[in-house]
Amino acid sequence: MKDFRYIRNVATLHLNPASCSGCGVCSIVCPHRILAIEKRKAVIQDLDLCMECGACSQNCPTGALTVRRGVGCAAAVINGWIRKTDPSCDCSSGPECC
Ligand code: SF4
Ligand code: SF4
Repeated sequence: MKDFRYIRNVATLHLNPASCSGCGVCSIVCPHRILAIEKRKAVIQDLDLCMECGACSQNCPTGALTVRRGVGCAAAVINGWIRKTDPSCDCSSGPECC
């Protein structure tokens, strides 16, 4: 999954550093290694790699992470792979899309 990228700037992942204890669980459970620990706080390294699986928020003991769990818009990613373009689901469902 080295070339996996989600649609740019749409992932709903949010981190509240004030609530983060720096436990590091999120950096372990994230399948794409998006979260890292720096100066005893979690940081988002690359938002566009997030597939909104929810593993980080489900395992965060302090509620510092939130994400709207979805399908990671597999259709968009696959379209991008096939066309060698940015991911796009070609859907026109507005803000509810992906
Ligand atoms: S799991 Fe939550 S509290 Fe622990 S480092 Fe990650 S964001 Fe911070
Ligand atoms: S939602 Fe999943 S892919 Fe995104 S940062 Fe959390 S664990 Fe990683």
